[in-house]
Amino acid sequence: MSDVKKILLLPGDGIGPEVMAEVKHLIDWFSSNRGLAFEVEEELVGGCCYDVHGVAVTDETIEKAKKADAVILGAVGGPKWAGVEYENRPEAGLLRLRKDLELFANLRPAICFEALTDASSLKPELVAGLDIMIVRELTGGIYFGEPRGITDLGNGERRGINTQVYDTHEIVRVAKVAFDLAEKRSGKVTSSEKSNVMEAGLLWREEVEKLHKEKYSHLELEHMLADACAMQLVRRPKQFDVIVTDNLFGDMLSDEASMLTGSLGMLPSASLGERDASGHQCAMYEPVHGSAPDIAGQGLANPIATILSFAMALRYSFDMGAEADLVEEAVKGVLDQGLRTADIMQPGKEKLSTREMGAAITRELDKLTTKT
Ligand code: NAD
Repeated sequence: MSDVKKILLLPGDGIGPEVMAEVKHLIDWFSSNRGLAFEVEEELVGGCCYDVHGVAVTDETIEKAKKADAVILGAVGGPKWAGVEYENRPEAGLLRLRKDLELFANLRPAICFEALTDASSLKPELVAGLDIMIVRELTGGIYFGEPRGITDLGNGERRGINTQVYDTHEIVRVAKVAFDLAEKRSGKVTSSEKSNVMEAGLLWREEVEKLHKEKYSHLELEHMLADACAMQLVRRPKQFDVIVTDNLFGDMLSDEASMLTGSLGMLPSASLGERDASGHQCAMYEPVHGSAPDIAGQGLANPIATILSFAMALRYSFDMGAEADLVEEAVKGVLDQGLRTADIMQPGKEKLSTREMGAAITRELDKLTTKT
């Protein structure tokens, strides 16, 4: 990869452009203060793209996304496009990006910042210091398996069909991502499926086990049925480090884990593709939240989820772990100072707008870097 990092920004709809504006400030900060070279382009995605082009994402944007070192996406959707045909809905743009870039590994960290432990629905002692990484398979399984559809049985009944299907390579490549992450963390992977009742789950378990024996036997591997995993996540979440699971169970377990940490406005994510022979890897980073039409345009959105998504891009696409640490430390710093956006507001704390929170984070970066 060249020294100039190519970033494609896709702010999208609703609060997307507002939270993305704070990422632009951060990019400017790193360019001016750390001498990092970014080539930044911006395109439409979602409802705003439909309004202009009649589709939720254009072929040109897909090509740019494929060539970028990292795509940073805000959010898509909103009531304005509720009546748009299924294939052109704002969300279809997101699905097409994931599919065309072959982003098979979805990384969802669930980190509980010390200052926000009270925001969790669990007791503070259960979540204080929580740091889990859920790796969800994103391009296979029941959401894509064939046959699928709704058929008329002709006897007054209809049948809905979806197929859970996984091939070896799909399991192995996502398990590798999980083991590689665990290597840099505590060294423990929990693989979750339903091997007791599903053949696809049994294959998942066997392939993960085989890969572990062949390449990662120095790491700890545990298997846990997905229902038990859901239960353990609320019972004793800190027992987990990296959890790897399929598309369907990952959808649910990652949402469950993220709620342990309090607000949607705090949660980043990364979706990674395979690295090609030249070393290029498609990657998209986005907050977990949606376009929040209820608060759009009011300066109420919390930009931290998108800012932390940019930190993940620094870490996973640009190999700039120190810079990623810096962003995460700056976020922790502002929270420790009692600065809050409305969604994470607590009594006695200071309420900031989206812009003010972004500015507080860059000010904290200034402070952190003049210290070192
Ligand atoms: P949402 O995540 O947009 O909002 C849920 C609630 O959380 C709202 O009350 C909202 O105000 C609040 N919230 C979300 N992000 C916030 C932030 N950064 N700061 C402060 N508060 C925040 O989910 P929804 O309301 O179910 O969906 C709204 C639209 O977003 C829908 O069109 C949906 O399809 C779309 N959506 C898009 C994505 C995506 O782009 N990845 C994900 C989920 C939903």
